[in-house]
Amino acid sequence: MSALYGTYARSELAFERGEGMRLFDQHGREYLDFHSGVAVNALGHGDAHLVSALKAAADKVWHTANTFTIPEQERLGQRLVDATFADAVFFTNSGAEALECAIKTARHYFWAKGEQERYEVIAFTGSFHGRTLGTIAAGGNPDYLQGFGPAAPGFKHANPGDLDSVKALVGPHTCAILIEPVQGEGGVTAMTSEFMQGLRQLCDENGLLLILDEVQCGFARTGRFFAFEWSGITPDIVAVAKAIGGGFPLGACLAKGDVAASMVPGTHGSTYGGNPLATAVGNAVLDRILAPGFINRVNEMGQRLSWHLQQLAQKYPDHVLEIRGKGLLAGIKIATPVRDMVSRLRDDHQLLAMSAGDNVLRFLPPLIVSEADIEEALGKVAAAFDAIDAEAATPPAAS
Ligand SMILES: *Cc1c(COP(=O)(O)O)cnc(C)c1O
Repeated sequence: MSALYGTYARSELAFERGEGMRLFDQHGREYLDFHSGVAVNALGHGDAHLVSALKAAADKVWHTANTFTIPEQERLGQRLVDATFADAVFFTNSGAEALECAIKTARHYFWAKGEQERYEVIAFTGSFHGRTLGTIAAGGNPDYLQGFGPAAPGFKHANPGDLDSVKALVGPHTCAILIEPVQGEGGVTAMTSEFMQGLRQLCDENGLLLILDEVQCGFARTGRFFAFEWSGITPDIVAVAKAIGGGFPLGACLAKGDVAASMVPGTHGSTYGGNPLATAVGNAVLDRILAPGFINRVNEMGQRLSWHLQQLAQKYPDHVLEIRGKGLLAGIKIATPVRDMVSRLRDDHQLLAMSAGDNVLRFLPPLIVSEADIEEALGKVAAAFDAIDAEAATPPAAS
């Protein structure tokens, strides 16, 4: 019996070692990783540059506090500002905290302008923003809210892809629109460029802020540094986490300068956020992701994955109902229960993949994936479909 909270339906599988795209369990058995610890291990396992950055940081100061200057944090913040739309960065330890900072920043921006009545955020059904009290209210998933008291007020939910449903919710209390450009947990649903542009325009017409949750789809996963770049828009606030630390807990809220200007001493804080170890690793991750050609290669692999998924869908039309996602945040809606499929792939084919909402099998390989890895992974999925068909064709043994 485990001493841990029963909040996860855990497999007994434990990994001892990792190398690039591969993980090895306690018995030395090898697994192909198309899970990346939920889009976290962007550079795979045991990347030499990341390992040496963390070891070097461990020999220096582990922690001070954000009331002192943390040089690695200053450097990472400046590099993110130089590389993106943002002018200011707040570092966190997780995605939910990055979203909390994003929502607080939006509300405080209007409060400081004397528009205290503007606090409402329009979010979307099927979204996921984390598990804090604020972010479960933002996500609006009734399963995650149930039993935890009244939902934090100030969130309304529109339908993704339906601009009229958003317009209908805009009122005198609205301060921002919050959306994942590609919904991850909800079912790997990519928003269209048209819809993203419509949201930007709606924000401009009504003086609202556009907050994007790029915790899962950001940091090159879709083949651009940020997923919103595909639609050519500029957001006001973006929350990131997961890949930003490559496996070390780190997140960030990025904002335009005028939007973040009211967040003065006393308005927000985090003991660990942007700690020296985390930001040393974050800088090493950025070295790799911003290296010339890296993001283009991710884009190419995303296209290869999409092509191979189409081949799979053609070969198994009874199993693959729909292809979803963008780049290396991809999924297939399948005909058989996805949780069984995830277990089957893991236990019988040594492939780590994930489930997502709407019975979608989600693929989140490290960004260093090769086409050979993609072929190997989808070969395992095909073998699993074949096994399911063979089992269905065999009458159950008489007892
Ligand atoms: C994972 C995730 C979060 C929450 O991140 P945590 O680090 O688990 O708090 C928020 N938004 C999206 C889109 C995510 O995928």
